[in-house]
Amino acid sequence: MIPLFEAQDAVLSGCKPLAPELSDFATLAGRVLAQDVVATEDVPPFHNTAVDGYAVRSIDTATVPVELRVVDTLAAGAAPTVAVGEGEAIRIMTGAPMPEGADAVVMVEDTQRVGDTHVRISRAANAHDGVRDAGSDVHAGETVFVSGTVLNAAGVGVLASVNARKVMAFPRARVALLSTGDELVVDGSPLRIGQIRESNLTMLHEMIAATGCEVINLGVVRDDEAELERVFREVSTRCDAIVTSGGVSMGDFDVVKAVLSKIATMQWMQMAIKPAKPFAFGQLQAEDGRVIPIFGLPGNPVSSLISYELLARPALRKMMGHTNNLLRPAITAVLDAPVKRKQDGKIHFVRVFGEFGSDGRLHVRDTGPQGSHQLASTAMANGLAQVPDGNGLQAGEEVPVYLLG
Ligand code: AMP
Ligand code: MG
Repeated sequence: MIPLFEAQDAVLSGCKPLAPELSDFATLAGRVLAQDVVATEDVPPFHNTAVDGYAVRSIDTATVPVELRVVDTLAAGAAPTVAVGEGEAIRIMTGAPMPEGADAVVMVEDTQRVGDTHVRISRAANAHDGVRDAGSDVHAGETVFVSGTVLNAAGVGVLASVNARKVMAFPRARVALLSTGDELVVDGSPLRIGQIRESNLTMLHEMIAATGCEVINLGVVRDDEAELERVFREVSTRCDAIVTSGGVSMGDFDVVKAVLSKIATMQWMQMAIKPAKPFAFGQLQAEDGRVIPIFGLPGNPVSSLISYELLARPALRKMMGHTNNLLRPAITAVLDAPVKRKQDGKIHFVRVFGEFGSDGRLHVRDTGPQGSHQLASTAMANGLAQVPDGNGLQAGEEVPVYLLG
């Protein structure tokens, strides 16, 4: 058995970032920039009003109430044609450009219309009140993002606002997903003796998509070496990585193992963790010469989930240009119930549910049975507690917890 961190190091060092590509800004949420973005325009592009109201000369409102003559109306998008002179005001809507002559906007709540021609101002305005300056969000020439930034939804909005429509960014990894096992039933038909329902494909599909990758879901491939080899070779021409479920441990029919040993450079790992001891990592050379990382997850559903989280997800993030937070954040939590375990030389990952208490700390308890096939208790968990080798932990003791959601 090797320590988890050794397996993680081996996997990470075997995965290189994909080549950045010129990308449409609208596809970039969650992706990593591969260039600095320098604004070429001011945002906003002109002085404009932050409120609906009346554009005025602040000096005219020094003594209130005061009645001003309304000489024009400006909607957002309109270009001003009339200036505000002494004793005058212009009705103006949020976002409309400031007209010549005016230096402040009085919000409509502080005004009252007087007939068709005048408005009564009931609150004095200081110069610049209600005005947003050109460039007050972003200045032309300013670096808005540096290379390596992970764009969130607001980030994509900023790219739109500065008209950076095409930028260099790391692509989403195209991840082929397949499950193996002749016992697996996917179509809802009645189970014969020995058969079970397939549960990993949809689960892993969701997890890979949530990592920010595109999923090529190949479904269940039968435990047949020739068929499996054909599938691997074909999909390697159109994917950046392969995730498999099942067939990587010590069984006689572990065909994934047999095939990959033949066509790829593989490391068959036994990690000192529970669940998810067996894990396979390798590289398959595609016909076009690209090296495709392969993550061979064990078939037991909980093992599949945990080894995806601890090994495949960080590596896929690295491939997509992430350099920070490759692993989920771990925080120190307090156990509200004891965790029993036996000494076996392994770290145990215990599925827990956690909530922040009034003491500001995360309090966790296990979600039920912890067998590697017991997915139902895993579905109730929002964290994985990392319980060190030994005889377990008492209630009140601290434990590091990876936050899953
Ligand atoms: P394997 O890793 O192929 O040796 O499978 C280990 C255990 O997980 C066996 O009990 C399998 O029946 C089960 N298993 C494998 N793949 C799946 C799957 N996709 N869905 C549910 N159970 C699975
Ligand atoms: Mg199997």
